[in-house]
Formats: sequence, C-alpha cells, structure tokens
Amino acid sequence: MTFHFDHSWKRSLPGTFLEHFPDPAPAPRLVVLNQALAQDLGLDAGALAEHGADWFSGAALPPGADPIALAYAGHQFGGFSAVLGDGRAHLLGEMVTPLGRFDLQLKGSGRTPFSRGGDGKAAIGPMLREYLMSEYMAAVGVPTTRCLAVVTTGQEVYRDTGALPGAVVARVAASHIRVGSFQFLAARKESEKLRALLNFTLARHDPDLAPGDALGLFDRVMRRQARLIAQWMGLGFIHGVMNTDNVALSGETIDYGPCAFMESYAPGTVFSSIDRQGRYAYANQPLILGWNLARLAEALLGGFDPDPDRAVDLANERLDQITPIYDVEWLRVMQGKLGLLGQEPGDMNLARGLLTAMEGQDADWTLTFHRLAQATTTDAPALTGLFADPAGLLGWLPKWRARLAPGADARLLAANPAIIPRNHRVEQALDAATLGDLAPFEALLAAIQSPFSEAEAYMLPAPAAFGRYVTFCGT
Ligand code: AMP
Ligand code: MG
Repeated sequence: MTFHFDHSWKRSLPGTFLEHFPDPAPAPRLVVLNQALAQDLGLDAGALAEHGADWFSGAALPPGADPIALAYAGHQFGGFSAVLGDGRAHLLGEMVTPLGRFDLQLKGSGRTPFSRGGDGKAAIGPMLREYLMSEYMAAVGVPTTRCLAVVTTGQEVYRDTGALPGAVVARVAASHIRVGSFQFLAARKESEKLRALLNFTLARHDPDLAPGDALGLFDRVMRRQARLIAQWMGLGFIHGVMNTDNVALSGETIDYGPCAFMESYAPGTVFSSIDRQGRYAYANQPLILGWNLARLAEALLGGFDPDPDRAVDLANERLDQITPIYDVEWLRVMQGKLGLLGQEPGDMNLARGLLTAMEGQDADWTLTFHRLAQATTTDAPALTGLFADPAGLLGWLPKWRARLAPGADARLLAANPAIIPRNHRVEQALDAATLGDLAPFEALLAAIQSPFSEAEAYMLPAPAAFGRYVTFCGT
C-alpha cells in the first residue's frame, strides 16, 4: 500500500470540518511529481506515477483517503470573517510516514460548502507557482509545506484573463492548523472544542508540552513564526497574504498565492495586486507577525488563565516579547548572511548599516549578499557595480571586514544563495506551462533546487523591459 492514512482530525475535532468529496476530474494528467519528496516520505514513487493523475485530481481517491474540508475563520487584510474554511481544498487524511505525520491535501479540487462565491478550482499557473516557490523554500532550508504533485484536470477554469487549464496541487503539510482554526472556535465561544483543538495541536507539534498548556503553545508558535519571518526577510521573500488563515501553527510557510521575491532592495516593496495599502509589504512583515500573534493570543485567552484579567496580563507579557524575539532571530539570520562568527554587540548596527547603504541604490538583494564573498579583501566591481552610487557601501565594507574571521568566503557562499525564483523567470515558465510547454518550468525548477550553484541565466534580475511586477491571488 502506498499511503498509510490516519484521520485524527476527523476523530478528535467534531464541528471543525465537513465531510466532502473532491470533484472528479474528467481527464486528469500528471504534470509534475515530486519524486524526491515521495522517497523521503517512504511513498511508492512507481505507484504515484501510475495512479497519481487519478489520486491527486479527485478522479479516484487513494486507498484509505477520507476527505474533509476544514472550517476556519480569519482576518483578511485586517477584517474578520467568522467562516472561511477550505473553499477549494480537500484534506485526504494524515500520512503516517518515516518522517512523521503529514497532512495530504488537494487544492483546486472543487467547490465545498465553504466556497462562497468561488468556483473551487485553480488554474495551472498558480498551482505550479506554489510548487516552485515551496521547492525553493525547502532547498534553502526554510520551513514550508511541500507539493507532492500537480495534476491538470482536463477542465477549463475561467479567470479575468480568460479560460485556463484547470489543475490541482497535492500539498503536504506538517499540519493545516492555522491561527484562523482557533479563531473559528473562539468566535463561536466553543470552549470545549477549543480545548480539544489546543490539545490536538500540542500532540501534533509540541508533544513535550502538557495537555492544556495554552501559554506553552503560544510561546512555541511565537518562536517558530519569528524564526520563519526572519528567514523570509533574509531571502527577500514577500508572502503577500499574511492573513491569519494563512499562518500555520507548525511554523511552516503556507499558501503561496501572490508571493514573490524582492529584487532591488526597497523596504516598501509590494507585489500583490490586491494589497493596495501595502499592509503586507516587505518591511511590514515583522509587524504583521506581531499583529497575527495578537489574534492568536485573543483566541487562546481562555486557556491562558481562568481569571480574565490575569489572562490578559499574561497575553500582554507575551506580546511585549515578540519584537525582541524577532530581533534576535533577524540578527541571527543577518550574522549568517554577513559571514560573521559568534555574536558581538556591534552586529545589529553592522547589519542595519548595509541596509542603509543599499536603500535607494537599486541594489539587487540576492546578488548583493551573494557577491559579498568576493569583497572580503577588495572592493570587487561585481559587488559595487550593483549599486547606483556605491559610496555608502564603500564606507561600510571596511567596518565589515574588520569584523570578519578567517573562512568568511565559504560561510558567505553557504548562507547567500546565488539563485531565487526570479520574477520574470517564474512568469515565463508559468506562461509557457499554461500553453502546454513545460520545458521552461522544468529548467527553472532544476535551477532553483540548487540555489547555491551559480547559473548565470537564472541569477540575473528581470530586464528593465519586464516592468513593475504585479502578482495575483490566482483565485
Ligand atoms: P487564500 O487567500 O488563497 O488563502 O484563500 C482565502 C479563502 O478563500 C479560503 O477560504 C479559500 O478556501 C477561499 N478561496 C480561494 N480561492 C477560491 C476559489 N477559487 N473557490 C472557492 N474558494 C476559494
Ligand atoms: Mg489560505
């Protein structure tokens, strides 16, 4: 048997899901199968190649699957919806694997009772984008959900741009427990069910903590999320929809919608067409982290202490710690990116000094850090040439060199990828795939899976003619 499914969500958390089947796809075709992930999960890759088109499209469920659509709430761009839920996704079950327990979810698999006005479907471009972006995150060591496969359904979906090939992604996640999962029950004042979800989450992600330990869970989530966002910031990753329904308690990056990587460093960078206020701009992500954690604290409040005043005090103590905890994580990321050994009091200023030197200089984020390795002893033109005016950089470099220890070059190259999924390359690959040509997608996928290997064609920023990049949620 390929999958060893369990269904603990269904067993333990009544009232937080609906039993519901994916739409059977009329003519499913496997577009990409993640052989490496299948192998890591102990899945039979041969069986997946043979049956994946059916299993991952809803045409025929894998043996042992028992699909449900999860209920959750969420703050979207600051506004609360008491019921969102899986409007186009089906959780097939939890895979019990050599690496632990993982949710297997289909996304784009048809309407559910949570679909509201949506069609429950997805187009091939956004599903392949999720595949690419999550594979990249995995390749650079950032916690993320993964994609096991993308399948086209043989059905068209209709979007602003016209009819597009429909597709489903099979997503593997440490869990789909979101801040919004807790908000859903808290908004309904379902204290029994909230406690069940708390204990379910603890058992799944923090089994060393005692049942009922809401404060302990909150502290763990705070640390995981702070580390995650710090890693995003180090890579120039902009998630684009940091709504509370897209924040996983596992600490994995989840829901790759309008996300993209920043090219020139500019703190206010926003790509998503719907983020008109820049709520989820690059430099706002740490602030939004705090905002989202405050929403989690509200939902967990009853578990913090039976006395409401005391619970609020405990929550506020935690919330005051978010910024210092995030700063420690960010500093750790930056110390790595600057090739520093150990920690010294001046490191925060050193890190901020480079950002100040980069600002307004049109300096490519990824290449600036990648090329620091060439500048440990001389002012390498490959680095200074990235800056419109390198005066600030030239002032900063000697301070940085004074802090370097032997072996910095190798540390720098190991911490600073040569490659990110460049926006123009992603668009080119997804456009071609939409027209049926997978070659550019496959070449890009191969390049981003070896992010520390230099490959000129995938390293360069978008040409000026590409213009300002705008992304869409793909819904
Ligand atoms: P997202 O911004 O992709 O995380 O989605 C937010 C909410 O909208 C979730 O409840 C989704 O299930 C729902 N949703 C997104 N796209 C669709 C769609 N095409 N059909 C139905 N529901 C959708
Ligand atoms: Mg979502």
